Amino acid sequence: MDKKLGVYLCSGCSLGESLDMEKLAKVAQKEYKAPVCRVHPFLCGAEGVAQIRKDLEEGTVNTAVVAACSPRVKTAAFSFDPTAVIMERVNLREHVAWCQKPKDEDTQMMAEDYLRMGIVKAQKSEPLEPASEAISKTILVVGGGVAGMTAALEAAAAGYEVTLVEKQAQLGGFVGTLKSRFPQTPPYTELSADGMAEKIQALTYHPKITVLTSAAIVKTEGQPGMFDVTVEVEGGSKSFRVGSIIMATGWKPYDAAKLGHLGYGLSPDVVTNVEFERMAASGAIARPSDGRPPQSVLFIQCAGSRDKEHLPYCSSVCCMATLKHAEYLHAQNADAKAYIIYKDMRTPGQYEKYYAKAQNHPATFLTKGEVASVRKGEGGLVVEVKDTLLGGSVQIPADMVVLATGMVPNSADGEAIRQLHDAEAKVLRNESDTQRQEAEKRVAELKQHEGTEILHLTYRQGPDLPVLRYGFPDSHFVCFPYETRRTGIYTTGTVRAPMDSSHAAEDALGAAMKAIQSVELASKGQAVHPRAGDLSFPEFFLQRCTQCKRCTEECPFGTLDEDAKGTPKPNPYRCRRCGICMGACPERIISFKNYSVDMIASMIKAIEVPEEDEEKPRVLVFMCENDAYPALDIAGMNHAQYDPSVRIIPLRCLGSMNIVWIADALSGGIDGIMLIGCKYGDDYQCHFAKGSELANRRLENVKETLTRLQLESERIQVTQLAINEYGKLPVLINDFMDRIREMGPNPYKGF
Ligand code: SF4
Ligand code: SF4
Repeated sequence: MDKKLGVYLCSGCSLGESLDMEKLAKVAQKEYKAPVCRVHPFLCGAEGVAQIRKDLEEGTVNTAVVAACSPRVKTAAFSFDPTAVIMERVNLREHVAWCQKPKDEDTQMMAEDYLRMGIVKAQKSEPLEPASEAISKTILVVGGGVAGMTAALEAAAAGYEVTLVEKQAQLGGFVGTLKSRFPQTPPYTELSADGMAEKIQALTYHPKITVLTSAAIVKTEGQPGMFDVTVEVEGGSKSFRVGSIIMATGWKPYDAAKLGHLGYGLSPDVVTNVEFERMAASGAIARPSDGRPPQSVLFIQCAGSRDKEHLPYCSSVCCMATLKHAEYLHAQNADAKAYIIYKDMRTPGQYEKYYAKAQNHPATFLTKGEVASVRKGEGGLVVEVKDTLLGGSVQIPADMVVLATGMVPNSADGEAIRQLHDAEAKVLRNESDTQRQEAEKRVAELKQHEGTEILHLTYRQGPDLPVLRYGFPDSHFVCFPYETRRTGIYTTGTVRAPMDSSHAAEDALGAAMKAIQSVELASKGQAVHPRAGDLSFPEFFLQRCTQCKRCTEECPFGTLDEDAKGTPKPNPYRCRRCGICMGACPERIISFKNYSVDMIASMIKAIEVPEEDEEKPRVLVFMCENDAYPALDIAGMNHAQYDPSVRIIPLRCLGSMNIVWIADALSGGIDGIMLIGCKYGDDYQCHFAKGSELANRRLENVKETLTRLQLESERIQVTQLAINEYGKLPVLINDFMDRIREMGPNPYKGF
C-alpha cells in the first residue's frame, strides 16, 4: 500500500496542559513528513472522529496515527476498516500525561519517542486480508451426560445444528444411573428425581440434533470451522464436518484400590460412594459380605481427596453425596446409625439447607476427625478416628464403611500424565547426565501419547487435549474457563473441573456460547479470544525455513503441523495470533501484516537515545498487552508517577519476543531492558498458556551472551505481574532505574 500518513494529536484530557503539542506536531511533520497532522481538543468526540473519517474518505489519508488515550479505551470511536485503513494508537494520556510531570523536558521527550514509535509501526504495517473459507457452523458435542445434553440443547435452541456422540448405548451419563439427585428446588431439603427422561426425550426428537450412541470418534482432522470427524458407529463409520467441538466426557471415580490405608480391599464391606449409590439404586442397601441390611454405616469423607498423595483437590460433591447416602440409609431403617467423619463439610449455596436437615437426624453423627485405621472387628469393622471434635481418639464399630472417593476427569490417561510430570521433574532436577537423558527420552515418548485419545486429533502435537497436572484439560483459570489449548474445542462439566450436576448444566450453557462464538468468528476469519476479532495471520516465508521445528514445538495451540522434512504447515484457523512462533523463529521469517520482528526493531531504532554525557538513561520495557500493559494504564489512571526514562513497547505476548530485539536495543545504546509478562507455572495466567515462560527461557541464553560480552546481565530483568498488581509497577520501574543508574551507561552507547 502506498502510505498516506495522517497524524492526529489530541490536546484534551489534560494532554494539552502537560505536553507541547506544537513540538509534537513538528516531530510528525518534519521527521516523518506527515502530509496531514491535526491537533484537536477532543479527538474522540463526534467532531474529531468525523475529521479523521473525512480525511480517510477523501483519500488524503490511509494510514492514521492517533496520539491520544490508551488503545484500550475509545475503541469504538477509533475503529476503521482494518482491510482498508492502517490505524495506530499512541498512548500519550495514561502512559505520559497522567504519570509524568507536566511541561517537563523528560515528559516531552517521552511523548515524542512514543509518537515516533507509533508512526514507524504504522509505516511498517499493511492492511489486513482476512481468510475466507467455507465454514461449517455445526457443533459437535462429545458425551451424552448432563453437561453434553444441555450443551447440545442450548446450541440447538440458538439455531445451530448439533451432532452428539455418546460411547454408551444410552444417554444420561452418570446422573442417569443415580437413585436421586441433590435438592434442585426450594426449600432445598428434599432430594430430586434425576430428570433425565425429559432431557433425553427433548434431545432425541430435536430437529436440529443428531444423536449417535454406542459411537466412538476415531479421527478428528482440520481446524475450527473445518473439523472433519470420523465416528465408528453401528459397525460402520460415518464422517462429517463440524465447526467447533464441546467435550463433555465427564468423570470417573478415583481408583479406590489405592486407598488400602482406609480399608479398601480389607473387607467387601468397605465400599466406595459410587458403589453405595448403585446398591441403593438397585433397591436395597445390604452388606456385601452377608447380604444383611447394615445397622451402622461409617462414611469417610475426602477419601483420597485433598490429599497430596492422591487427589490434592476437593471433588466438590462428596459431602452432599454422603448426606444423601445417610438419607438413603435412614429411609431403609430410621434407626441405622450413620457416622460421618469429615475434614470439613462443604455444602455450598442452597445445599447448606440440606446439610442442616441431615444434621438434625437423631441417627446421624458427624465429627471432624482423621481416620487412623480401619480394621476388622467382631462381626464387622472398627474405625479408629483421631483428633475428633470431642478430643482424643475414638473407636467406632460399623457394619459397613463407605469411602467418599473423588472425581478424576475423563480426559487424559491419569497414569500417563503422572508419569509425564514425574519425567519432566526429573529432567529439571540436577540428576546425572544419563538419568536426565533417559528422562528426556521418556518425556518425548509420553508426549506422543498424552491422552486417552477421545478426539483422536491428527495434530502434530498429540491426539488429545493437553491437560494440566491432575488431568484437567487446560483452561485459563482466571479469564477463560472452557478454553483448552486447542482452538475451537471447549470442555464443560466434570471433565473441566469437579462440579455437581446442576452446576454442570449451567456450565454447559457457557461452553455452548463459546462454541457458537468460535464458529461465528471463524466464519469472518477472525481470531477467538484473547485477540477476539483479530484478522491478522502469521505469514511464513518458507523459502528460508531451516526446518528447525521451533515454531511447531513452541506454538501452544497446535496450530502448526509439519511435512516430512519438518517444514511448518500452518492451520490458520487454529491460530490465536499470539506471535509466539514469531518469537521462536531464529530465521525471523514469521510475521503478521501488523506485527513483525522488523516492525518492533524499527520502533526500537526510532527511540532517541541521548548521549552518555547527557546523563539521561534509556530503558526499554516489553510489556505483555494482556496484563502488564493494562496494569500500567491503571497506574496512569491513578496518576502514579514513575521514572520518565522508560519506553514501553506492548507485545501480543511476551512469548513473541524475538531475542534479536534485545541485541538491537543494547547495540543502539539502550541501558537496560525490562520484560514484564504474566505469571507462569501450573497456575499460569499467561493468556497464551506458556508465552511468558518461553520468553524467560529464551532470555537465559541471552544473559549468558551478555556475560560473555562483559555486559552486566542485570541490565535485563524479567518480571511476572498480574493485572491487579498495578500498584507495584511504578516501584518496579523506579527500582530498576536506580540499579541502571548505579551500573552506569551501557558501554556500547555511541558505537
Ligand atoms: S501466532 Fe501463536 S497460535 Fe498462531 S501459529 Fe504462531 S504460535 Fe501458534
Ligand atoms: S522456527 Fe522458523 S526456521 Fe524454524 S521451522 Fe519454524 S519457520 Fe522454519
